[in-house]
Amino acid sequence: MTAFRNNGLTAHRRNPADFPENALPGFVDGRASGEDVKYPPAKLILFDLDGTLYLSGVLFPRVQELIHKLRESSLEYGFLTNNSTIGPGSYFNKLKRLGLELNRRNVVTSVEATCLMLRNLRIGPEIYILGTRKFRSYLESQGFVHSYEDAQALLIGFDTELTYRKLTEATRLVLAGKPIVASHPDPICPGPFPDAGMLLEYFRAARPGVVVQAIAGKPHRWLVQLLQERFQVRPEEMIMVGDRVNTDMRFAANFGMRSMLVLNGVPQPELGDIRPTLIVERIGQLCDEYWPENLGWTEPADKNAAGSRHRRKS
Ligand SMILES: [Mg+2]
Repeated sequence: MTAFRNNGLTAHRRNPADFPENALPGFVDGRASGEDVKYPPAKLILFDLDGTLYLSGVLFPRVQELIHKLRESSLEYGFLTNNSTIGPGSYFNKLKRLGLELNRRNVVTSVEATCLMLRNLRIGPEIYILGTRKFRSYLESQGFVHSYEDAQALLIGFDTELTYRKLTEATRLVLAGKPIVASHPDPICPGPFPDAGMLLEYFRAARPGVVVQAIAGKPHRWLVQLLQERFQVRPEEMIMVGDRVNTDMRFAANFGMRSMLVLNGVPQPELGDIRPTLIVERIGQLCDEYWPENLGWTEPADKNAAGSRHRRKS
């Protein structure tokens, strides 16, 4: 593991391939000493959605302006969500309707990371999918098959269509010793609504010693692997912007990304062992005072061939 310094803060860099499958929050100390390495120029900025860019479907002020400015800049951007109720196509349409400029590749979801995780762990194609119809239909479009009788594992998503029948079938699979995997670990979705992490706890109660084999979304490794494959960018060239310490900021800390914790009018949460690179009052401030180039996080604009990134974005 290597540590590197930026603006007086250090963070650990971990190779995603070395990241323990069952890593739980709590092992990263952003202030730990070690070899100091400077961050390379940032190439990709990642935004959490709920609580960071919008709340209850309403964009925070200046978010459209921020995304437009990024569109014209050398920095690639991604919209990153753990929410697995809908697939990436539905998220693309939702963000488009909100007036954000984007292409399909800009949307990165735990649903896609789940498929990558299942393939890499050679789980399936038959799995029991505890999730919404849209979650199931995306997985089926990627070659997975929802099955109770032949299930190799129980996959837990954010199931807003949960029924007692589904809980019973899933419980029986856990009692039969089938492995548990999940799209993401969040216990509560902003709203608040009970989320996948609460279901994980529910099934942990079913059988003593039951372990969750793997989780796809933030702060785990599969989402990083997806980002690296899609954007051809290393974690230390990424900036993570989010409102949650235990998912967004821990995700950045786990893999050595720069991070911005955005408060958006909410009191600063407990940081625990996590040290965001910057804590920002409002997302709109990224348009000017916290614009990555103004922070010295990207190459100055004149060093980039005009339009080269823009072509990649279009
Ligand atoms: Mg959030």
